[in-house]
Amino acid sequence: MELYTPEALITEDEIALRIHALGNAITKDFDAEDLVVICVLKGAFMFCSDLIKKINRPLSLEFISLSSYGDATQSSGSVRLEMDITADIEGKNVLIVEDIVDSGLTIKTLMELLSVRKPKTVKLASLLFKPSKLKHKVSIDYLGFEIEDKFVIGYGLDYAGRYRELPYIGILNAGN
Ligand code: 5GP
Repeated sequence: MELYTPEALITEDEIALRIHALGNAITKDFDAEDLVVICVLKGAFMFCSDLIKKINRPLSLEFISLSSYGDATQSSGSVRLEMDITADIEGKNVLIVEDIVDSGLTIKTLMELLSVRKPKTVKLASLLFKPSKLKHKVSIDYLGFEIEDKFVIGYGLDYAGRYRELPYIGILNAGN
């Protein structure tokens, strides 16, 4: 049988601990405020699912799908809206939940797209951040982990559609 154990960069336990802390911080910051959580598909689905379980506030959940990578490990440089949210966010507190901020282009594009819809506030939670690749000004309000410039997979993140189901963040090696 083919070996299927990509090297771990961040373990399941480390992810769970960090998400617990992020959930507590979000719960505190949105005290007495309703919240619209926007999960950026597909990569953030697992992070978002675990994060909202740790937010002890009334919230509604929306999904949006943006694509910039195709099947490559480098951004294509343009972001396409593949699926939009269905809710009206005018006057609402929005929390975007993203898997990783790399160049920052996806998040910059998404912020611009949402800001014309006049939300009350927009905050960003990102599981991962690669500071060395950042090209656009992005401020992450709730960050899971800063990582070095390696292509990562697992815990929702894919390479060519694979590895999303891994319960930890791994590094894509030639042998996987
Ligand atoms: P950005 O627009 O910030 O350059 O890239 C953000 C998007 O690129 C993420 O939402 C994610 O889909 C993808 N991405 C960036 N770096 C990685 C990586 O190391 N692994 C995977 N699987 N996707 C990545």
